[in-house]
Amino acid sequence: MVNQQQTHQKHIPERSCVVCRTKAPKRSLTRLVVIDGELHIDPSGKMKGRGAYLCQNDGCWERAMKTNVLNHALKVTLTDDSRQRLSEAMPSS
Ligand SMILES: [Zn+2]
Repeated sequence: MVNQQQTHQKHIPERSCVVCRTKAPKRSLTRLVVIDGELHIDPSGKMKGRGAYLCQNDGCWERAMKTNVLNHALKVTLTDDSRQRLSEAMPSS
């Protein structure tokens, strides 16, 4: 008999959406990461680099694209390519 006893409680890591600051489990948020000064989407959440999180609210994605919130959070300048990647990864599109 295999006894799969849980010896410790699972801690669910929470992160805040960089736009609306709502806290949510890391997995339900989309991680954005800056690599070589360019913004990338990080679906795995494991890419190395400075990261920020966006929630599932498409309004937050729009604000991320249209305002300077990511510039401040990630010290990155959004290029047209970055905006393109964001719009492609947007939850409701
Ligand atoms: Zn949000």
